[in-house]
Amino acid sequence: MRIAFIGPPGAGKSTQARKLARALPHWNTSPRLSTGELVRAQIEAGTDLGRALKERYERGERVDNASILSLVLPRVRRSGGWILDNFPADVAQARALDEELEEHGAGNLSRVILLEGPSGEDLIQRVLDGRVTSQTTRDVYHLLNDPPPQPEEGLDPGPFESRNDDTEASLRRNMEAYRREAESLKKHYEARGVLSVVNARRPVDEVAEEVLEILGHPERPEFYTVSANSRTV
Ligand code: ADP
Repeated sequence: MRIAFIGPPGAGKSTQARKLARALPHWNTSPRLSTGELVRAQIEAGTDLGRALKERYERGERVDNASILSLVLPRVRRSGGWILDNFPADVAQARALDEELEEHGAGNLSRVILLEGPSGEDLIQRVLDGRVTSQTTRDVYHLLNDPPPQPEEGLDPGPFESRNDDTEASLRRNMEAYRREAESLKKHYEARGVLSVVNARRPVDEVAEEVLEILGHPERPEFYTVSANSRTV
């Protein structure tokens, strides 16, 4: 499956990408590709690219498209299935992804899931109220809405910390950058017939359930027994 989650900051892209990846029986063959994580990994590893991106990243700003594409596209090329989280963020990135898929005959995106619904103010509040990231797995949780696993569950040892770039100013900047692109990105995928809009105002698990429904329940064994010809995702 080739899925992309798009939407404004705080809508739940990382959360839903994690939930979907974990729900899939073959989840390790559909890796999650999170642009934020790819950038952070470069910075932590101290690569040339990481050093070039560090300042913008630490100010909570978007990094340039050429850098993002140089991180995402080779990974898209190497793997037949993936769950993209926060990519494409604009039409230029969407076009670059289309070209990449066409050039390598990798097949189209199965589905693009747009998470939207909460107002900008609600999204900012949601993030500032308790978004935390595991320092071990980099998975995202929320202290109130989607609490991190307990140590005895053995799923994620944490620690769970809020991100330095989760400030009101940087969230507002990113929200504005998203708004400038949102309509044209939506139209781009509507025109290709792969867009599904999901109401992200509902609780995390309800949103996750709707995503599975839209995808035809890939967590169920029956999904893999239907003939490949009749399968669209
Ligand atoms: P994005 O990747 O779109 O920026 P996140 O997945 O980081 O968004 O979600 C933002 C914060 O809101 C996280 O702390 C997450 O746990 C929480 N969250 C995600 N989806 C929901 C939801 N449907 N309702 C309430 N909180 C949510």
